[in-house]
Amino acid sequence: MVPATVTAPSPMSAFTRSRDNPLAVANALSSRPGLSIVPAMRWPSDMVGAWAMTLTVTSTVVAALLDEATRAHPREACGLLFGTEGQIAAYHPAANVHASPETHFEIDPQALIDAQRTMRGGGPRLVGYYHSHPSGLPEPSATDRALAAPDGMVWAIVGEARVELWWAGSDGLLPLPYRVMEA
Ligand SMILES: [Zn+2]
Repeated sequence: MVPATVTAPSPMSAFTRSRDNPLAVANALSSRPGLSIVPAMRWPSDMVGAWAMTLTVTSTVVAALLDEATRAHPREACGLLFGTEGQIAAYHPAANVHASPETHFEIDPQALIDAQRTMRGGGPRLVGYYHSHPSGLPEPSATDRALAAPDGMVWAIVGEARVELWWAGSDGLLPLPYRVMEA
């Protein structure tokens, strides 16, 4: 008797594995259907691979985001992340200007304007955003997924005393593995 075992790799199983093997992110992306439809704003699928293979976050930033979430509770904390494609090394808290800050966030537009101006002046590069889920998992909500522009930015979400990273590409918010570096 031959065991009737069928192995059918799916993009989702690749995503699950990607936490252990960052290369799987790029593989999963390239195997997703619909890649032939390329809108003008589409980012290359290997962008997320470039992030995932090298991304570190400093322990200082991780600790600070957890602290920000605790202090903002029961409202959502939010702010900006700075660094390079290889490392998130700084953050800047922003006011949550959403009318319902317990369940939503909206980064103070002025903080974004300031960050863009600083960047143009040769300052730290804005690489992402963070916000917290006061009573939820560190995973994108339906609203987060609807709002995320496919701009290649990192979304850090804090929930249940964890920080999870997501990458905003044309396929939505994808899990982004990272390592914590003592700094
Ligand atoms: Zn959210």
